[in-house]
Amino acid sequence: MTTAGARDIAAERARMVAEVEAMYAETRWETGFAAMSPAVRAALGKVERHRLVSPEQAASAYANHPLPIGHGQTISQPYIVALSTDLIAPQPHHVVLEIGTGSGYQAAILAEIVKQVHTIEIVESLGRGAQARLQELGYRNIEVRIGDGYAGWPQKAPFDGIIVTAAAPGIPQALVDQLKPGGRMAIPVGDRWEIQHLMLVTKNADGSVERRKVLPVRFVPLVPKD
Ligand code: SAH
Repeated sequence: MTTAGARDIAAERARMVAEVEAMYAETRWETGFAAMSPAVRAALGKVERHRLVSPEQAASAYANHPLPIGHGQTISQPYIVALSTDLIAPQPHHVVLEIGTGSGYQAAILAEIVKQVHTIEIVESLGRGAQARLQELGYRNIEVRIGDGYAGWPQKAPFDGIIVTAAAPGIPQALVDQLKPGGRMAIPVGDRWEIQHLMLVTKNADGSVERRKVLPVRFVPLVPKD
């Protein structure tokens, strides 16, 4: 059924994917990614972002900019979600960890690509809300835990990839420890009032760790552990 003024969600999502692709091209020299990987592009084109954000934000769900989700929290623009996902080079057999469940959007993007997603949210109502919506959308490979992400999730470690979606003052050692050899972590690093950088942390096969500054970014801060 088509009614006058009805939203064409599929067209909005396709436009969002095209905008993200254009941003990849613009930032290719900084990030090293000329284009989205096919898996990330497919996930972005599929996940129903308008069903994960709050009803007040649903109308702008497919705009390529950050959105408020309540509790003073903001979810990243789709470009940053896509880039963070590409940075960890996700594969179908991977088990990944996300810190900062928020709306559940990043977790859903990951769940389209990898075998299992574990995600930790410190604000209980946000975590429970995301869990319910993800369940409703049919995701069975996402496990949400309420807790402090600084410590990671040792019982589920080691991980092929970790995505941190709030800025940390430094790279938490517990998270590095929970990466498999060959594993990758995307994490925004920097203080609230400073320039933050999205960083790629790679653990080599011999256990040594490499860090690369990928892009200046602005994320809400991780709530510090006490
Ligand atoms: N990935 C989310 C966006 C998250 S915004 C999405 O796709 O929607 C950052 C989130 O990190 C917020 O929900 C915030 O409550 C959460 N957060 C902040 N500090 C945290 C911590 N120490 N441990 C776990 N989650 C944290």
